[in-house]
Amino acid sequence: MVNDDIDTIRLEVRDWLKSHTQGSRPRVQWMKEVLASGWACPSWPKTWYGKEFSLEVSWAVVEEFSEAREVGAGQDLVNIPACTFFTFGTEELKKEWLIKLLTGEVLNSLLYSEPGAGSDLASLQTRAELKGDNWIIDGQKVWTSGALSADYALLAARTNWDVPKHRGITLFWCPLRQDGVEIRPIRQITGESDFNEVFLTNVKIPSGSVVGAVDDGWTVLRGALAVERVMISTTKAINVASASLSGRKVDSGGLGKLPNPEVLFNLAKRCGNNTDPFVRDALVKFYSLHRVNQWNTLRAQTESKRGPSPPIASLSKLAMSRLQHYAAHVESMIADTEGLLDAPDSSVGHSALAHSLSAFMASIAGGTDQIQRNVIGENVLNLQREPEVDRNRPFREVRKPFSSTTGK
Ligand SMILES: Cc1cc2nc3c(=O)[nH]c(=O)nc-3n(C[C@H](O)[C@H](O)[C@H](O)COP(=O)(O)OP(=O)(O)OC[C@H]3O[C@@H](n4cnc5c(N)ncnc54)[C@H](O)[C@@H]3O)c2cc1C
Repeated sequence: MVNDDIDTIRLEVRDWLKSHTQGSRPRVQWMKEVLASGWACPSWPKTWYGKEFSLEVSWAVVEEFSEAREVGAGQDLVNIPACTFFTFGTEELKKEWLIKLLTGEVLNSLLYSEPGAGSDLASLQTRAELKGDNWIIDGQKVWTSGALSADYALLAARTNWDVPKHRGITLFWCPLRQDGVEIRPIRQITGESDFNEVFLTNVKIPSGSVVGAVDDGWTVLRGALAVERVMISTTKAINVASASLSGRKVDSGGLGKLPNPEVLFNLAKRCGNNTDPFVRDALVKFYSLHRVNQWNTLRAQTESKRGPSPPIASLSKLAMSRLQHYAAHVESMIADTEGLLDAPDSSVGHSALAHSLSAFMASIAGGTDQIQRNVIGENVLNLQREPEVDRNRPFREVRKPFSSTTGK
């Protein structure tokens, strides 16, 4: 670690931002400049676009960028594929892809969940077989955010059916623009289509595109999911995520809709009920929860230095989901009877409704609230583990909720 005095670095960033701004330039061009400055991933080594600062400094840089209303910092904190490649990728993969992932030249999505494998992701049945120089992929994924605009995906597939479920998975970097990839959008209750079903038939992935080791994809997935939890668990991170240039529209949509307390204070003033004691109570509670969650997220970041998947990230993620629901509740309270209306009759009602509906995204994406509670119970509170009858059985012998069209 080199010079790590946060206040000095904050001043340096402020100075840099005085003479550098994205303006109307394309995002990729701006990101190249941010990367060259070292402010996109300050905690990474200098050989990989960084400055060898601490994660705490990275967060401080994110704050300075946010303050200046610029995007691009925090790629080392929440850019899921870049962080995954950085930690687990081979030198070749890093050399070829990191820059494209960091600048957003390449848009990506996450092909993890399947109809029979969401919370129990290790039950996935998409099959990968090495034939010559390529892995051949067959299977079905679901809830894939941003798949329509993505060029590549982090894909989890089963490479070994004769070992227990967690041990036979591999993570691949999968090109999506090829025959055999069929993407069908799913329509949500909000009317939007943020995610998709993805059908994979005889899809080819070059043999060098394995992230981590063959059959050890679970380790890599845990690391990638931890980054996702941190991303979801903080408003700051969400601002960063929308700048992390992923193809996942959800980053700027449902999950990014948590208002700052200030936004709700101002709304209450505008609606003329900022003197209502019930509204005031709710606003202060929201403010307190929001603040505590920011501190917890910082703790999660510090913990992540000690291992790829800190359980504290589950705590922050759970808190964020609660905050999303609570913010929507407070907003509806402030909107009062106008909350019964929708656009175009009332923008206040429309916003309260949209936030109430999309709050559920945060309770499900990146692992449901119930699963976060399990993780916290088992890994933070040291409670007894959930019974798992299939944990040590070869996956081939495990009874499956959905029989895969491709599994044997
Ligand atoms: C906005 C959004 C974006 C998403 N983006 C992506 C994406 O880009 N890529 C991707 O691969 N996936 C994505 N997902 C999918 C997401 O990861 C899964 O929906 C999630 O893991 C839950 O899986 P499931 O939907 O199959 O529900 P299930 O696992 O079937 O769970 C159903 C219910 O049972 C509960 N439950 C299940 N198991 C347990 C247990 N052991 N203990 C207690 N309760 C339990 C769950 O909490 C839930 O309430 C996204 C989801 C959302 C909402």
